[in-house]
Order: sequence, then C-alpha cells, then structure tokens
Amino acid sequence: MVLLTRVDSGSSIGVNGNMRAETKSAVFHRHLNRDFLPLAKSEGNYLILEDGREVFDASGGAAVGCIGWGNKQVAGAIMKQVLDAPYCASIYYTTRVQEELCRALVDSTSGKMARAYIVNSGSEAMEAALKLARQYFVELKPSQPQRTRFIARNQSYHGTTLGALAIGGHQYRRSNFEPLLMKNASKVSPCFAFRGKFPGETDEDYVNRLAKELDDEFQRVGPETVCAFVAEPVVGAALGCVPAVPGYFKAVRAVCQKYGALLILDEVMCGMGRTGTLHAWEQEGVVPDIQTIGKALGGGYQPVAGVLANPRVINVIRDGTSAFVHGHTYQGQPTSCAAALEVQRIIREEGLLSNVREMGTLLSELLKTRLGDHPNVGDIRGRGLFWGIEFVADKQNLTPFPVDAHVAMEISELGLTEEYSISVYPGAGSADGIRGDHIIIAPAYNVTSKEIEMIVATFGRLVDDFFANGK
Ligand code: PLP
Repeated sequence: MVLLTRVDSGSSIGVNGNMRAETKSAVFHRHLNRDFLPLAKSEGNYLILEDGREVFDASGGAAVGCIGWGNKQVAGAIMKQVLDAPYCASIYYTTRVQEELCRALVDSTSGKMARAYIVNSGSEAMEAALKLARQYFVELKPSQPQRTRFIARNQSYHGTTLGALAIGGHQYRRSNFEPLLMKNASKVSPCFAFRGKFPGETDEDYVNRLAKELDDEFQRVGPETVCAFVAEPVVGAALGCVPAVPGYFKAVRAVCQKYGALLILDEVMCGMGRTGTLHAWEQEGVVPDIQTIGKALGGGYQPVAGVLANPRVINVIRDGTSAFVHGHTYQGQPTSCAAALEVQRIIREEGLLSNVREMGTLLSELLKTRLGDHPNVGDIRGRGLFWGIEFVADKQNLTPFPVDAHVAMEISELGLTEEYSISVYPGAGSADGIRGDHIIIAPAYNVTSKEIEMIVATFGRLVDDFFANGK
C-alpha cells in the first residue's frame, strides 16, 4: 500500500528547505525504499508537514514526546547552554545542568537510587547498566568474577546495540545479528497475561509459575554465574504497553535476592512519568538495583537517557576502584542535560503526572468503549498514557494476523493520510504467533480531554475503515 510521499524517488528536501522534485534522497533511511513524510515543524501536539498539513501526534514518536512540541522554555534552556558551555569533557569537568539533573533524578527516588549517569540513548543506557552490573560483582568484596550471565525475557526490547540486543527478545531485530550477540544471555517468558496466562489461571498462580520459571533458569545456568535479571516494568515496543500482573515484580525480585543477583529495570520507554508515576517501579512495590531511563527524560528536545544505580551498587564501586570503566565522548552532554532539566521541571511544576493519570483513565475507558467489541481488536491494555491495542484475525481464538500482512504498519500508515492525519506507533507481530500486531497510543502528558476524545474517535474510524476494506 503506497500512502505517503515518496521522498526517495520523487521529491526530497533541499538544503534551503525547498522541495527538490527530481533528486533522490541521500539519507541512509531505516527503510531505503519506503516513503517518508517531510516534517517541517512540530507545534503543541501537531506535526506540520512541508505542504502545511497538520498531523495530530498521538504517540510522541515512540513515546518520546511528553510535553508537546515547540516549548520555548526548553528551547531557551538549550540555547542558553549552547552559549554558556555546549560541551563538557567528562574526564575533567562537570556542569551545573548535569549536577542539577542528576540530583533531581536521585531525589525523585527518595534516596533509593544514589547516583545518575547521563548518556545519549536508551541503548547506551542499557549497555552501561549491563557493564555496571558486571563491574559491581568484580569489585564486590569478596569478588564474584564468575558472574558473567544475564537473564532477560522473551518479547522484550532493550535497544539496538549488540549488548542490548543480546538481552532483548525482539526476534526480528535480533535475527540477522544473532551470531554476533553475546552468548551469556538467556530468556524466560514475559508476564503477558493476554497470551501467557492459562485459561482459568489466577494472577497468583500465573505469578508463581513465572517466578518458578525464572528460578529454574537460575538453576539451569548456575545461580552463582548470574549478574542480573533484566525486565521492562511495562513492556513497550516488543509487546505494546503490557504491564505485569500484580505481584509479578515482587516475585521476581525475591528470586534475584535469593541468588544474590541484581535486578535491572529498563524504564527507557515506560519511565519518566509515562505510566502515571515518575518511575514505573513505584507502582510495583519494588526498587531496582539499576534502572535505565530515556525517551521522556528529554521529551524529544535533545537525545538524552540515563542510568540510575542504588547505594548497594554505588558503594561497591566507590569502595573499590571508584571508577566505572565506561564512558562516551558525549556523556553528560550539557545541552541534553539542560533540555532534560527543563522538561522535568515543567512536568513537576505543571503537575503533569496527575494529568497523565486522569487522562489515562479517560483514554482507556473511551478506547474500550469504542473498540472493545471490534471483531479484530483482541486486547486493549496499558497504564497511564501508554496504551496498546492488539489486533487479531479471529477474536474467538485470539489468532494474530500473519506477520507478512503488516497490519499494524499499514494501519499506522493509513492514519497518516489526509483522511485521518493522526500519528500512532506500530508494533509488528512475531512469526511464531506469540505476539500480535499492535498500535501504541501515547500522547503528551498535557493532553486535554477534548484531544483524548478526538484521538479515540479518529483512531476508531481508522480501525473500522482499515478492516472494512478487506484485511
Ligand atoms: N529500552 C527500551 C524499553 C526501549 O523501548 C528502547 C527503545 O525503544 C530502548 C531501550 C533503546 O533506546 P534507544 O532507541 O534510545 O537506543
């Protein structure tokens, strides 16, 4: 289905911002033969294309945008930092914005986390988290150098770099690179009630079954060899906004504790307020040893992500070599810190987390009313302003669509046409049928009830029209 402007074979954007009709794109796009819309400006909750058409941004990209676009205070903070000190060589220097950002992050955990480490992307944050976990055991007294393994979960996504990919369970993103991935990462089932729970099984029994599976995996690989168990509190891209059933994280935390392994929670997508509390783990009654954050940290204004580590981890490094053997040229990048500091100030001072909770409830109710009975909607799940709609070919048996039907991608592309002009985020199903195609809706934290009504009305019409036209 060709729906969008063919940037790479018909028109592309010239350096002066004009459309150049006959040149081909020189960009190494993610998809070389797909169609990309020329984005000219982002304002409030709208993405404005070169031709002036306005697309409502109902997902902030991949749940990145969180305060809307065009915020002048954030722009001002970035500009001030560009002029004050645009770069900071981390070997010698720090900046006020980095110090204040890390202080605010640590304080937001009421001291449960001791230090924050600022990087540029979620994948970098995950790499740092894995290495920090390993270094912790090397420097622990007495040292436990035999701890070299990680246990993570199927149908998870932790990033695209080789370490993050190795612990990830997104088969499509892994498959080409499988031979390059570290072999010391193994997987257990995610907590995915929609497809994972047996008929009639209680939440408690499901949790016990998953905790036993994790315990068995520790036993299989040798509990003394495991650095950490890694999981997303609410699974994002790999499953489409799937929170765990109550008690799951307490149960897996207990298994980690039993074997002395660390718990790493990946909050790159679900953290920094997206689910209604600043940290998603606050709603699970557990505190991780290491936590990663990303997307909504800087709200899309600058590339910025981070790692938080608790006192247990930090004290060992501090009393050991006192140096994390890791680093990037652009770590603690001042302009990114300035942007994140300002975005987080706005979230805090404008009380946006209570709006996430309130508007999240409205979004879930309206989505369920509008689409709950749709024959091709299998599940509507999520938390806060982070909702996933999973599609099924057969509602009775919950059969997913074949992967090569590209249902989610085509729905999201249809949404971008003039008829709907709404931007939602697609997630593909898996070839083994363990995961179905889904769409993520994740509007900005300052979304209004009128906008929520509009999102649901437009998305409902989009889904009706898509399936009415023959999927
Ligand atoms: N972890 C999770 C849970 C994610 O959703 C993502 C990205 O989608 C990442 C890590 C990787 O982040 P990035 O794309 O910024 O490298």
